Amino acid sequence: MTDTRVPFLSFADAHGELADEFRAVFDNALATGRFIGGPVVADFEQDFARFCRTPFAVGVGSGTDAVRFALIACGVQNGDMVITVPNTFIATSEAISQAGALPAFVDVDERTYNMDPEALRRFIEHECVRTGTTLTHTATERRVSAVVPVHLYGQPADMDAIGAIAEEFGLKVVEDACQAHGARHRSAPGNTWRRAGALGHAAAFSFYPGKNLGALGEGGAVTTSDEAVAETVRKLRDHGQGRKYYHDMEGYNGRLDAIQAGFLQAKLKRLEDWNTRRRECAARYRELLGESPGLTLPFVPEWAEPVFHLYEVQVAERDAIMEHLTSRGVGCGLHYPVPLHLQRAYADRGYGEGSFAVAEKLAKRLLSLPMSAELTEEQQQYVAGSLLEFSPKETPA
Ligand SMILES: *Cc1c(COP(=O)(O)O)cnc(C)c1O
Repeated sequence: MTDTRVPFLSFADAHGELADEFRAVFDNALATGRFIGGPVVADFEQDFARFCRTPFAVGVGSGTDAVRFALIACGVQNGDMVITVPNTFIATSEAISQAGALPAFVDVDERTYNMDPEALRRFIEHECVRTGTTLTHTATERRVSAVVPVHLYGQPADMDAIGAIAEEFGLKVVEDACQAHGARHRSAPGNTWRRAGALGHAAAFSFYPGKNLGALGEGGAVTTSDEAVAETVRKLRDHGQGRKYYHDMEGYNGRLDAIQAGFLQAKLKRLEDWNTRRRECAARYRELLGESPGLTLPFVPEWAEPVFHLYEVQVAERDAIMEHLTSRGVGCGLHYPVPLHLQRAYADRGYGEGSFAVAEKLAKRLLSLPMSAELTEEQQQYVAGSLLEFSPKETPA
């Protein structure tokens, strides 16, 4: 066993300085007995809406809840089809299925790793027909009602292009912003920088501990500028109740609890700084790793300001390099080793090797290096040095 020299992720430093604030949140919950809902949740929702520059934020139980509730509130119905990408965490497609729809995948862009707007257009033009205002997937006769771009690794997808296609074909856009708290996108209307969460009809955030804004447990939020969507999400998270024991619909148990909301409120105050530090770490990796042959660093379009939830390098001998880094005590990860369309869960969908060439290539080549607001310059030098010293093993002829 090698000692870990640079952990992939560590909470200790960030949480250490917040310990007293966390204790105050807990003491307050004990004193007031408000564990679910109440003023702390409402306050956090206001703070998070302000952070995202959206009128509404609704706290929910997880990022998966957030995607599911956002889709339902945007009008996705049982039997619909919803389009997303194959290189994401399975929660994206699970939430689509749980909303009653069938997830359909389109491939991603070679450089940004996010949804390729041209692939989205090809799917719509080749596999769907439009009658009136309804888009129908020809083979399954399902209504196509929404598209879920994922801001993967903390970098916004090409929302201008995706938004224009969605508008043309009458689709709702639900951002999967679960990795992108605070990321910005320069948008065509006015060429203004807008934040993830304000780039579609609704957006889903996760507060899973490892995310850029993480609870000390589970949590999530839906943001939107549409009051009716916010109102529906409020009901969906709480058994469809408009008021206690009066149910306008069947909903879910999908609430954000007050203790987590309090913890999140304390951490949200630091998020801007933490995201800045992540961007600085990304810039330092670029300095340290430079133009090394065989190594592709993240590409950032001029209209995107990412928050580097993960720092991905693309390498040919990925598995050997990962083994090498692990042997040097550098924690690294794979996000994600198998694209969704090749997962056993979707074996019955008729996808196979070659269905989404870019996503498949990336799954074989991407490696996540240590990235956090606490990463030090020395640690990054050690990671970069360990990576650059790798040389492929002689393979017998
Ligand atoms: C984490 C994540 C989710 C799910 O969030 P949970 O809070 O774990 O339910 C959804 N989509 C993406 C892209 C994620 O990274």
